Amino acid sequence: MTTLSEAKKDLRKNGYLTVDVDPTLDLFTEINRLKKEKNAILLAHYYQEPDIQDVADFIGDSLGLSQQAAKTKADIIVFAGVHFMAETAKILCPDKKVLLPDLHAGCSLADSAPTEPFRKFREAHPGHIVISYINCSAEVKALSDIICTSSNAQKIIETIPEDQPIIFAPDKNLGAYLIKKTGRNMVLWNGSCQVHEIFSAEKITKLKVRHPQAKVIAHPECEEVVLKMADFIGSTSALLKYTMKDEAKEYIVATETGILHQMEINSPEKTFIPAPPNNACACNNCPHMKLNTLEKLYLCMEYEEPEILMDEQLIMAARKPIDRMLEISARFGL
Ligand code: SF4
Repeated sequence: MTTLSEAKKDLRKNGYLTVDVDPTLDLFTEINRLKKEKNAILLAHYYQEPDIQDVADFIGDSLGLSQQAAKTKADIIVFAGVHFMAETAKILCPDKKVLLPDLHAGCSLADSAPTEPFRKFREAHPGHIVISYINCSAEVKALSDIICTSSNAQKIIETIPEDQPIIFAPDKNLGAYLIKKTGRNMVLWNGSCQVHEIFSAEKITKLKVRHPQAKVIAHPECEEVVLKMADFIGSTSALLKYTMKDEAKEYIVATETGILHQMEINSPEKTFIPAPPNNACACNNCPHMKLNTLEKLYLCMEYEEPEILMDEQLIMAARKPIDRMLEISARFGL
């Protein structure tokens, strides 16, 4: 059995406190108790496992979660999501303690934009304004002019004067989709998400044969071949809202499977079918998001570790483009 002090010593290596959790504990009750005792707010991304979504104070996509983090009065923000999201909460609330259940919960898209190559890319395109999707490291945010999410990216691009050249990073699929939507000829960074690139257009076609009434709904991080098949394209929260208002009874959902939990809660009479990946794996589940578990969540709230720690100058530099995003979103009521 690992002692608490041993687990703390190995925390950065393991990503979380590897102490045993009493199997007789009701973790839902414990997490709710800890939230009250510590004045903590639990923010969970739609791609978290259903148990974590069920115990969260707020469930949302990147934009909604950033907005919640920016306005919370809680002393502790517990972020059930991936590292760049918890980092964003820390940037917005530097005086608060921000906890992430597993520090190793990363993101293939954020990893596809390493800082130094990105800096050189920016330098190679002088005079360009850099709009970066929120799925990037704090260092890349600090090298950007405006941050965006899939909920507000189009609006943000439309606020930029037409003669102003733009770099869009790091997601090439979302970038290509936005070029089509806005008619802006942006320079794209060549990054992508391992989950949204994996959907098989061929298997979706076969599913459509078996479910002819089903509508295909897709996240804009998907490849163009999948987006072309979609009846509706939108951010995770836009997909959820669409299924709540739309009249169809069946949907093939091309995004991370975690969102199906909220779709089923909100529209219990409808059927939601996860779009299949192009191989036999469960690759439409984000392996980074799913590193967080209820046990790790409980442990991080009980012992207030692992905590997101960041350099102050980096926080200040990364904050400016996020503030620009929040200001534009507020202006357009997004
Ligand atoms: S689903 Fe893709 S973009 Fe989202 S956290 Fe996972 S790897 Fe990153």
